[in-house]
This record gives sequence, C-alpha cells and structure tokens, in this order.
Amino acid sequence: MKYCSQCGESVEQRIPEGDNRERHVCPACGTIHYHNPRVIAGCLPVYGDRVLLCRRAIEPRLGYWTLPAGFMENGESTEDAARRETREEACTEVDIVSLYTLTSIIHVNQVQLIYLAQMPEKRFGPSEESLEVRLFREDEIPWDNLAFETIRQVLTLYFQDRKHQQFPLRHMEIDRNAFHSARVHL
Ligand SMILES: [Zn+2]
Repeated sequence: MKYCSQCGESVEQRIPEGDNRERHVCPACGTIHYHNPRVIAGCLPVYGDRVLLCRRAIEPRLGYWTLPAGFMENGESTEDAARRETREEACTEVDIVSLYTLTSIIHVNQVQLIYLAQMPEKRFGPSEESLEVRLFREDEIPWDNLAFETIRQVLTLYFQDRKHQQFPLRHMEIDRNAFHSARVHL
C-alpha cells in the first residue's frame, strides 16, 4: 500500500501506539490501514459416488482442476459464499451437509473453508470462470492436474473418510515451506 485510501497522502510503515507490529499509517489523517487474512469459501459437491470439479478458465492456474471456491463477499455467511461460488463456477445448486475442511494458507494470508455438499440433481455446466465442469469417480481424479495443494489435500481426505462414511471437520495448515506436505491435524 502506497497511498491512504481515506485522504490520498503517502502512508508510512510504523508500529502504532499500543500495537506490536508494523502497519500502514497515514501521517496526514491518522488512519491505520490493517491488512488481515481473507476468507475463501467453497464446496466439495458430491453426486452418488462422484465429485464435481471445475477446470479453471482464469488465472492463476488456468486450465487446472479445482473445487468451486472463492473469496467471500461482505454481507454473506460462509455457507452462502460457498453456495454462490458453486453456482457461479459450476452452474449447480447444492445442499450443504457440513463444514469439512478449515485450512490456514499462511504464505498467502488466506483461510479456506470447504463444505461437503450434496447435488440433488445432475445439473451443472461451464461458466465464465470454468472451461469445463465434470463429475469424477475416485479413480478418475486428475491428481497431476489439480490447481492447488489445498484441493489435493481435501480430495485425499474425502476419499479416506468416505470408506468409513464419517466426515469430521479437518484442520490443516499450509505454508510456503510445507507446500507439498501440508500438515493435517487429525
Ligand atoms: Zn490519510
């Protein structure tokens, strides 16, 4: 951040009184600009023994497969956000079953929530954000062409948990160093 969004002055980096870390502070109007993690909400849509994936039509990771998920908007709940992203990216309506994974993606300052969701109907399709939308059986999952490490983790856990038909909430942390070996708290 270079300029104050309140008054347009150049901001400076300093530790405000009573705080313990550097912030962007405006010397003109005194506004402290906080930058905090953003929340991503999405779904793992299930239809019978298959799961729904979307092939990304936008960067980053254009052309790779992912679960429908995206940044929350102001004024909506996490479940609303997950349903909306699924509608926007996969043109499908889902019934949310439960919160399934909660992942701190530390190096990009994001928190990702993925809900387990049932598809009442086999109706879905591509969108402006997805080149292709498809149902996959476990042995059809394009493991080498998944867009994000978090998605690989969610799918791996899902197919493990499905054997027991129990889907407890899973907490994970991923940072830059552990990008290919996310820490999973079981
Ligand atoms: Zn200002």
